Amino acid sequence: MVFFPSPGIGHLIPMVELGKLILRHHPSFSITILITTPPFETGATAPYMSRVASEIQAITFIELPPVELSVTQIDHSLTFMFEWLLLCKPAVAQALQSISEKTVIRAFVMDSFCSTALDVATDLGVPAYFFYASAAAFLTVFLYFPELNKQNPGKFRDLACDLVLPGLPPLPPSLIPEVMQDRNKKVYEWFLYHSAKVPQGKGILLNSFEELEPLGLKALQALMDHTHGGVPRPPVYWIGPLVGGEDRSGGDNDTLQWLDSQPAGSVVFLSFGSVGRFSEAQIREIAVGLENSGQRFLWVVRSPPREDNDRTKRLRPSEPDLEELLPQGFLQRTADKGLVMKSWASQAAVLSCAAVGGFVSHCGWNSVLESVCAGVPMAAWPIYAEQAMNAFLMVGEMGLAVAVERGDDGFVKAEEVARCVRELMESEVGKRIRERMAAVKDSAARALRVGGSSLKNLEAMVNAGKHLPSSLETEA
Ligand code: UDP
Repeated sequence: MVFFPSPGIGHLIPMVELGKLILRHHPSFSITILITTPPFETGATAPYMSRVASEIQAITFIELPPVELSVTQIDHSLTFMFEWLLLCKPAVAQALQSISEKTVIRAFVMDSFCSTALDVATDLGVPAYFFYASAAAFLTVFLYFPELNKQNPGKFRDLACDLVLPGLPPLPPSLIPEVMQDRNKKVYEWFLYHSAKVPQGKGILLNSFEELEPLGLKALQALMDHTHGGVPRPPVYWIGPLVGGEDRSGGDNDTLQWLDSQPAGSVVFLSFGSVGRFSEAQIREIAVGLENSGQRFLWVVRSPPREDNDRTKRLRPSEPDLEELLPQGFLQRTADKGLVMKSWASQAAVLSCAAVGGFVSHCGWNSVLESVCAGVPMAAWPIYAEQAMNAFLMVGEMGLAVAVERGDDGFVKAEEVARCVRELMESEVGKRIRERMAAVKDSAARALRVGGSSLKNLEAMVNAGKHLPSSLETEA
């Protein structure tokens, strides 16, 4: 199988996990992962790839040759990425061609942001699948986007009423991500392009599991029944949760040792994805709130966004100067109960520590799944992309998170930080969320066991049309 993740560690990790899962049950397969490294790469990918390559021989990475992209008229960093991926198409074609000369490619699985590469696989006669790295509920919105686009000539957020989609409750238009709001933007056109292209694959592999998202399951079923210009929609294979392992080799041993020395369930972890960043004012406000909450904490702090508007550098911040950024004396005053990490933590390993009792998160889908797999309740503080929708589901539909109340400008005051941290860690509400999380954690583990829903679905995909001998027919 050949995988083509879009740039960014949040898209690479689940695809590597998919590779590992397939290899566990089909050891005769090999997985080749095509990697493209644009200038905005955070730097997290290279060490991760070398760890994976050294541990698993059947996974090989092919780094595609660099391409040159002029950065004029780029309205969003994702536009840059999509244009970049388009330029990578000839290199993808060459890589697939050369692999197919040596072996039969059973499937080409590309991230849904890499849909410009679909034609390459089609031209070579390779079965092409898409990998969708977010929630089923949001996949429904994404697949329905061409219809939404036709129905609403303006910006969604200007609508006076909620959006109505098959199988979903009425959705406030503000839940539609910024990149899908404004039809005058290039990035909007790109989303429209991908949402029309993804259904043309042989199937969609979804990084979620049926027991986590009853609403998403219902919505996708309703969408399948919804005629799509007479064209049948492709099958959706729920194959999650695919999350990074609890790898402790990421270089933050001191942090993990500190966590191991804290009482069980006593530490709140704050981390906002691979690229989430706050203004200096917001960072200070979080510090004040955390200190006032009186809770133990582990907080990943990244440098605030720079003033210069070079979108190609957006994802590569410098190391933060904590003494300068945080309120005077904060680090000293909280030294006995808190730890601040610069820029990055081994998140999955941190979440799996017994000491971690809550997670203040931006609700990126990988973070949600990692929290679910570790059974850690969340406080939902969405920042960008489809995180508002994920937060809406986590708080309302699933009851797995408390909501962090943001001002109209997205700013969160210190009192609110303290309130939701306390609610998460100490209150009856937090306790009930923790109990629900524990149950969902069990169902996550079951989904990937032999006989579990996701493993059955994966097997159906792997065997689709191939009649491979299955090792997975026995019940758990
Ligand atoms: N991550 C990490 N350490 C950090 C920040 C992020 O290991 O300090 C990992 C996290 O565990 C997750 C991924 O990066 O696997 C982020 O993916 P997510 O979908 O949550 O957010 P995104 O970065 O795509 O916004």
